Amino acid sequence: MQQPAAATTAQSRAPDWNRIRLDFPLLTRAVNDKPLIYFDNANTSQKPVEVIAAVDGFYRRQNANVSRAVHALGTEATDAYEGARKTLARFMSVRADELVLCSGTTFAINLVAYSWALPNLKEGDVILVSRMEHHANIVPWQLIAQRTGARLEVAEILPDGSLDLDALYKAMTPQVKLLAVAHVSNVLGTVNPVREICRAARKAGIVTVVDGSQAAPHMALDVAAIGCDFYAMTGHKVCGPTGTGALWARRELLDAMPPFIGGGEMIKEVSFERTTFNEVPHKFEAGTPNIAGFVGLGAALDYLGAIGMDAIRAREAELLAHLTEELQRIDGLRIFGTAPDKAAVVSFLIDGAHAHDLATLLDLDGVAVRSGQHCAHPLLQYFGVAATLRASLAFYNTHEEIEGFVAALKKARTLLG
Ligand code: PMP
Repeated sequence: MQQPAAATTAQSRAPDWNRIRLDFPLLTRAVNDKPLIYFDNANTSQKPVEVIAAVDGFYRRQNANVSRAVHALGTEATDAYEGARKTLARFMSVRADELVLCSGTTFAINLVAYSWALPNLKEGDVILVSRMEHHANIVPWQLIAQRTGARLEVAEILPDGSLDLDALYKAMTPQVKLLAVAHVSNVLGTVNPVREICRAARKAGIVTVVDGSQAAPHMALDVAAIGCDFYAMTGHKVCGPTGTGALWARRELLDAMPPFIGGGEMIKEVSFERTTFNEVPHKFEAGTPNIAGFVGLGAALDYLGAIGMDAIRAREAELLAHLTEELQRIDGLRIFGTAPDKAAVVSFLIDGAHAHDLATLLDLDGVAVRSGQHCAHPLLQYFGVAATLRASLAFYNTHEEIEGFVAALKKARTLLG
């Protein structure tokens, strides 16, 4: 029987994941004489040849500083850097002139902390953070709390690793001035309903900071639709180079905020008496940026765009279901984070085996997973454990790797037992 036209079209558009995997040179290497199984993608992603070639090509043909020089290379470098800003703006569904380029989420959140929170918060104000935040979305707020007299409060989670939304909404008291929340948890994989959360926060007059580090690699972003005030992302988790990332904020917030770091590029005029600052977003981009890195990030986002973020999400959901099913079959294995909406991140422990010991044995079998506290001490304290193992997947991982990983895990457990 002939296939209906729509099915044929859908099938012919389905990405060829085996071919896509070949774009990642590092994935072909061996570790400890075993084929590498790289399941540490939440930590950092691997890079396709397109990204490596873009960085290499920039240094071979275009390298110059941005904005200062009128010569051809200076113009080309500036165009390449600004081109990456536009590509990132499209990827996040925001305006390019509202996107501050920086070294990553850590810098982006600190920028909000020092340029927005420090001048706006005072004694008695509350900064609300969720239990599942990465240290990058806790420590800057503690530092600001110490300096302003504001107080940090915690929005708790439920045992399945989802946010306790009722408690969160109740915690949105008039004292709360800022809410910092992850879009996706780096430990549990939980996808938080940030749109609803930000809507409630806005009604309560609370400024929202969404940490998008772990969302950007896994789903199509529509930051404008989320309705937050600030959104931070990091480039090295979306197949881009390290030291790249961005902060998005509404234009009126950025216009009103004082600069965080001072220096070249961020000024219009300087005299010893006074300095006038450059337009947003350049006002926040002092010094020479990671130009080649952003060229690479632009290439990474074009690469992901060509595959399609919806296709990536579907592929990872399939891999996550397979991995979860395999792990659930192992006796004495406990998964941390079983929320209904999850990205492809699985944290777990096996009775009687220490996470670090398992990770060390897995490494001997060529498997890279993270063990420890994943920069989320308060979250692990909630679960009452000192460490977990975390397997985090990307679209370029395979079902065969999942099977190889599970076999290596069972072997490691036997060796420890
Ligand atoms: N937030 C989350 C949820 C993360 O997973 C990470 C990276 N592990 C960060 C923030 C910090 O990102 P970066 O180190 O790239 O600034």
